[in-house]
Amino acid sequence: MARIDLVDLAHSYGGNDAPPASFALKPVTMTWRQGGAYALLGPSGCGKTTLLNLISGIVTPSRGKILFDGADITQATTQKRNIAQVFQFPVIYDTMTVGENLAFPLKNRGVPAADIAARVRQIADLLDLTPYLNRKATRLTADAKQKISLGRGLVRSDVAAVLFDEPLTVIDPELKWQLRSKLKALHRELDLTMIYVTHDQTEALTFADTVVVMHDGRVVQSGTPAELFDKPAHTFVGYFIGSPGMNIVPAQVSGREARIDGHIIALKRSYNGLAPGVRIEIGVRPEFVDIAAPAPGLLAADIERIDDLGRVRFARVRVGDAKLAARVPPGFSPAGSGVSLVFDPAHVHVYADSLLVEGAS
Ligand code: ATP
Repeated sequence: MARIDLVDLAHSYGGNDAPPASFALKPVTMTWRQGGAYALLGPSGCGKTTLLNLISGIVTPSRGKILFDGADITQATTQKRNIAQVFQFPVIYDTMTVGENLAFPLKNRGVPAADIAARVRQIADLLDLTPYLNRKATRLTADAKQKISLGRGLVRSDVAAVLFDEPLTVIDPELKWQLRSKLKALHRELDLTMIYVTHDQTEALTFADTVVVMHDGRVVQSGTPAELFDKPAHTFVGYFIGSPGMNIVPAQVSGREARIDGHIIALKRSYNGLAPGVRIEIGVRPEFVDIAAPAPGLLAADIERIDDLGRVRFARVRVGDAKLAARVPPGFSPAGSGVSLVFDPAHVHVYADSLLVEGAS
């Protein structure tokens, strides 16, 4: 296990002289804690695999440094970095048994036979592979083969980190759900640094203690699932995480007031001196906007539809040109399409050019 530091790390597949905006990974400085469970989350093409491959050494960065426990390994080979990696599709030897597949990474490193046997038993147990240990891998289902791949990634206890690149893509939906929780339990049991790449927020939030969100080649926020939900540092995090995502609405903001469509919304913090020329928006999660009967002094909105999600109902509403999602309080039935919106000031955030503005208390 190792602490991993990225220092001003950046990568362009077009070489170091490419325009900064075209870099697949824009400069990032951050630390991955020893023993942490991380998810690297973002949409397709945002740079997740690039960052993972820079850490494993499959790709050499255009700029910056990577340190493992303080030692500079930027130019070191994948082999030297001592990383285990699990890919989207199973990487196993069909001609070997399940047990031999699991033992292979340990045999390769010259681990004593008794230690190999004990560790293979432990990993097979954790992944429910014990009944298959003597079966040839070739006859197993795609799900079982990917479990073996996971096992091979987890079997060594001396790796700097285990990297997973969308490892549950080929897994059947029901088993996917089980394996997601299992991986979290495995992390607790095995005490390894794990980085899990996914575009699926449920997978990321189930597995990770810390979720690192990427957008357009940039790490835009790194935090606990609760931090990402409560205080998105970037509007992208607001609407990418949560279902429905955060409402992001253009507004004029000064002091403790935001103005939308001529109506004033109270803010918990004070915002003075916002730079002129920047795009100001407010962000508020649908969970913190309630619809209510039309009333003077409240922001008027028109309901377009109501989505009943079982335990909670969300209304899709329109305010001028803006579309928002708002909670329908339990027991409330709107009389018509005209309603009011009630915001919880403690959960209304202000963004300048997509970045969170802290405000003053
Ligand atoms: P996905 O989930 O689709 O794999 P990702 O978030 O992992 O996406 P990357 O694969 O890191 O994203 O890609 C980031 C950007 O770099 C994309 O614009 C992609 O087209 C580009 N890219 C990735 N690999 C290469 C390569 N070998 N050569 C040139 N461009 C590449």
